[in-house]
Amino acid sequence: MSDRFPAILVSKEGEKGQKVDQVELGLDDLMDGDVVVAVDHSTVNYKDGLAVTGKAPVVRRWPMIPGIDFAGTVDSSENPDFKPGDKVVLNGWGVGETHYGGFAGKARVKGDWLIHRPDGMSGAEAMAIGTAGYTAMLCVLALERQGVTPDKGPIVVTGAAGGVGSVAVSILSKLGYEVVASTGRPQEAEYLKGLGASEIIPRDELSGDPRPLSKERFAGGVDAVGSKTLANVLSMTRYGGSVAACGLAGGMDLPTSVAPFILRGVSLIGVDSVMAPKARRVEAYDRLVRDLDHAKIAAMTTTIGLDGVQAAAADILAGKIRGRVVVKIG
Ligand code: NDP
Repeated sequence: MSDRFPAILVSKEGEKGQKVDQVELGLDDLMDGDVVVAVDHSTVNYKDGLAVTGKAPVVRRWPMIPGIDFAGTVDSSENPDFKPGDKVVLNGWGVGETHYGGFAGKARVKGDWLIHRPDGMSGAEAMAIGTAGYTAMLCVLALERQGVTPDKGPIVVTGAAGGVGSVAVSILSKLGYEVVASTGRPQEAEYLKGLGASEIIPRDELSGDPRPLSKERFAGGVDAVGSKTLANVLSMTRYGGSVAACGLAGGMDLPTSVAPFILRGVSLIGVDSVMAPKARRVEAYDRLVRDLDHAKIAAMTTTIGLDGVQAAAADILAGKIRGRVVVKIG
């Protein structure tokens, strides 16, 4: 079998620019690691959009194979936890940023970054969920740890038609929560209702100048947007409620006050998927198998090849992608 494989390579061009090529590489071109994986699927996450277009300094080692996540089968391993033939998945750890990532037929990584893919989840499904979906589950787990249960009231999901949002809506509705989906794309209302949202609210309702406190509406929230949207969600969170913040699609700032925290006991929980410890990852994947319908994953997924990555990267930054984009490689 040939050791040559296709890859997307992002390289510096001139002082500030970058270029993106589809190239053919060999195993010797890969970076250090103790496990080689034959990658069958990756995905286009928001961060991949930033890396491929160069819109934000996600890539910190040049050149770089982007792709912050992948699913595949172990080819060879010097790590006692993995053997050839094992089905694995990787999310984060700087892969696609400082270490060659998932937009390639092979990846050589540290075994400590991998987890075994749960039984009952195909590589395509694992990447339909992807880092966006695994992060959505981390947000749900964070709300659960705070004691946010379905009887407490509605949960708002912002950026609902995006990757994190779509998976969050699906999981929360399957768990019995009443889900309020905030979207800037009214044409996606039926899609979001199909995933389980009981109410759709326009993005504008949450993007105006936030007041310190507004009418109490939500028992909790999953926020992929940040900025004024998160500030408004906090100001509308009911007494004792919690909001899991994981994204910045609307901006990195947070123009809020301490009012929701000190007058309503609201909690703001930060969610990071990149460096999350292995035990939390395994917990999230086990729960994804249990709490996410296969049909709903299929409904939110489109599939492309490596040749479609550049266009998808631009689209995700333009907010044009609905749900999740899987990159089929193997
Ligand atoms: P997507 O682009 O798929 O989804 C983001 C959604 O946000 C869009 O679909 C859109 O939803 C909404 N949106 C986009 N631009 C704006 C804007 N200017 N104002 C308000 N809403 C906007 O990205 P992902 O779901 O993959 O990621 C979402 C966010 O979460 C990103 O910021 C990403 O970096 C972050 N993230 C963080 C992780 C972590 O570990 N903390 C891991 C994974 C993602 P709609 O059209 O419905 O309004």
